[in-house]
Amino acid sequence: MFGKLRLWRVRRIVARHPIAEPLWQAALRRCAPARRLGASDQAALRVLATLFLREKSIEPVQGLVLDEADRVLLATHACVPILELGMQWFDGWHSVIVYPDAFVPQRTRIDEAGVVHQSHAPMAGEAWDRGPVILSWADVLRAGQRPGHNVVIHEMAHKLDLLNGVANGFPPLHRRMDPGEWTRVLSGAWEHLRSEHRQGMPIPIDPYGLESPAEFFAVASEQFFEAPAALREHLPQVYRQLERFYRQHPY
Ligand SMILES: [Zn+2]
Repeated sequence: MFGKLRLWRVRRIVARHPIAEPLWQAALRRCAPARRLGASDQAALRVLATLFLREKSIEPVQGLVLDEADRVLLATHACVPILELGMQWFDGWHSVIVYPDAFVPQRTRIDEAGVVHQSHAPMAGEAWDRGPVILSWADVLRAGQRPGHNVVIHEMAHKLDLLNGVANGFPPLHRRMDPGEWTRVLSGAWEHLRSEHRQGMPIPIDPYGLESPAEFFAVASEQFFEAPAALREHLPQVYRQLERFYRQHPY
């Protein structure tokens, strides 16, 4: 997981800034995907969370106060997707900005006809290319309350997706993965679910995932870690691709 120099640095950080046992146990209680891991995977996740807390800056805004236990919880959720990938998959960005609740980004968008749209929809999270991850703390605490939901994992999936350019549901795949198969499986499932949803049929994932291939990857990633049995049952091929990408077998 780590090169030699990195390993030395990791050991030093973990020795100097360990996550206290009660905080770690509290984070495990509140993060189902972490709680389900075996002991050695939990230990590896704890190391990653320790590094995350050193390397990233968690910045609460609008009067929000996050104590040490909150920060450990956030880091634990964030590191679940990179457990078998490594901290270098989070290189290139630094800040996690945390709002107390859903936030409305002050942003204008100009469409193809030249019309300027002001965005007003409150958001639970956002990931900027090479920029910060933005989260609503109220939504972070809601992880798992609705089955398959985890806003931190969702935004971290966008970060992984952005590693090779735009967010398009196509993160950098491993050497032994087949890019054609990835595209076929994920686009196929996305198209199929969109058509079922348009016909008013129930679909097995949060309909927000139908917005774009990027959102489909992020929503499927949330479900992969939070509700793996359901994803495996309803979208087995998508589950299998995510298994290969994350190198984890949560079900
Ligand atoms: Zn998203």
